[in-house]
Amino acid sequence: MTGPVTSPRRLVVVIGTGTEVGKTWVAAATLSILRDQGVRVAARKPAQSFEPSESENAATDADVLGAATGEDPRTVCPAHRWYEVPLAPPMAAAALGRPPFTLADLVDEITWPDDVDLGLVETAGGVRSPLATDDGDAVALAAALMPDDLVLVADAGLGTLNAIRLTLGAFADVLHSRDDLAGRVVLNRFDPSSDLHRRNLAWLRDHDGIDAATSPAALAARLR
Ligand SMILES: [Mg+2]
Repeated sequence: MTGPVTSPRRLVVVIGTGTEVGKTWVAAATLSILRDQGVRVAARKPAQSFEPSESENAATDADVLGAATGEDPRTVCPAHRWYEVPLAPPMAAAALGRPPFTLADLVDEITWPDDVDLGLVETAGGVRSPLATDDGDAVALAAALMPDDLVLVADAGLGTLNAIRLTLGAFADVLHSRDDLAGRVVLNRFDPSSDLHRRNLAWLRDHDGIDAATSPAALAARLR
């Protein structure tokens, strides 16, 4: 390691209850709001895998996060960590005949510019999805990075209570207390006219002590 290591004033790791729950969308929308408010933001995606058509349309996670923070997508995710096949990153690397990598490799590659108020790291897939060839996952990444905040993005519909509880259980050893995530759960695609969504929100509050956010604006306010 050469030179001083710069780190954001506040480090946030975004995890999800699964793939396709909207981690990237929530992260990008929240970062855009904070940036508009004058917060200096940056985003990192340690590794990403995708359908080749997504990179043609500049719609990979790194593209979307970079558009929100004003960074080059290859700064958000290093060029050698773009895997153009939709499998978990270490599986995609193997399928493409590219080298295996460890969780420590990913952690070492995360660097930040000076003067970042809020740095956000988006994980890949769900919390137990393989993130490195040595089978590191989002739990191990969060344990290594020791973020100030974890944000859990979940769906708002049927099955989300089970998924949220399983995810919180997986993080039991990383969290200082359940309160660490209590205000940092986002029910994405929340529709206030949906009886199911409103009941899920209320159940989390009444039974799990979780006051979930239902929009990027609400999450942004909690991260300020
Ligand atoms: Mg994503």
